[in-house]
Amino acid sequence: MQIIEEVLSGIYAIKVPLPGNPLQAINAYLIKGRERNLLIDTGFNRVECRTALLNGLKSLDAAPDKTDIFITHMHADHCGLINAVATEKNAVYCSAVDAKRINWAITPEYWPKNLAYAGSHGFPVREHRGELLQHPAQKYGPDSQHDFSVAGEGDVLEAGEYAFVVVETPGHTPGHICLYEPDKKILFSGDHILDEITPNITMFYEGLPDPLGWYLQSLDKVDRMAIDLVLPGHQRVIEDTHQRIVELKQHYDNRLREVMTVLEGGSMSAFQVAGGITWDIPCAWDKFPLQQLWFATGEIISHLEHLRQQNKVRRFECEGNLLFELVK
Ligand SMILES: [Zn+2]
Ligand SMILES: [Zn+2]
Repeated sequence: MQIIEEVLSGIYAIKVPLPGNPLQAINAYLIKGRERNLLIDTGFNRVECRTALLNGLKSLDAAPDKTDIFITHMHADHCGLINAVATEKNAVYCSAVDAKRINWAITPEYWPKNLAYAGSHGFPVREHRGELLQHPAQKYGPDSQHDFSVAGEGDVLEAGEYAFVVVETPGHTPGHICLYEPDKKILFSGDHILDEITPNITMFYEGLPDPLGWYLQSLDKVDRMAIDLVLPGHQRVIEDTHQRIVELKQHYDNRLREVMTVLEGGSMSAFQVAGGITWDIPCAWDKFPLQQLWFATGEIISHLEHLRQQNKVRRFECEGNLLFELVK
């Protein structure tokens, strides 16, 4: 795997490996400037990522003091290494919403609350508590809080020959943001648009009320923009943005339909619905690795909540559990 590649004039992709993760690597991007550089996303807070990122920056002659950092969203594979690159002389940009969540995620209350929330949706939290506490989202995030510089819709960040505009794209996370260059027609999409996989749209404890609805709106928003090239947070660049957005929307539409079909079997928890869905994972539901079970359940909660917003599905409580059924 080529570690550093100049994808456009003055824009370098640094492949930061994600050991044990099906995505294999994250694309951090460095935009070289005369005075200051801009780094987009970082990698997990673990030694393999730290070594790759810092070596990449060094070989591109990007001293941390002269390199500001843009974090597309709160996931640990994107923000985990903030503290390895942040100094007193650079800025770390993030949306207000995800900045708050990154700092909240390292407080002792955050993960137990998320586990309790998943438990209320039927996820077998008690059986897997120990292993869940080792979840990469928890284990490989930043190890201390950070004083972020807030980036919001329309803010402009200049680096090298580029002037990037911040575009808010909530859905994959509540405060996901992209960077758009209107003259060059390029978009750094974080995990909002990926080429080979569909971004995980999950439900957070105290997150967006309808993350999938927000996500689909954010896809439409990007679809209205003039884009020649998407530089995503994982995998390869995307040239036909519109076509990819059509495919993504089709995927979520199909899955919404499948969720409704599963619910024809009667009222059930999100975890039970997830067990009835056809997943792109080559093993039976009861053999799913725990992390995949976790993502699949979160994904289905977001679909059920979207259907609930459309009044196609009703949610009710039964002995402390949240169950869903079709609205007839
Ligand atoms: Zn993500
Ligand atoms: Zn990611």
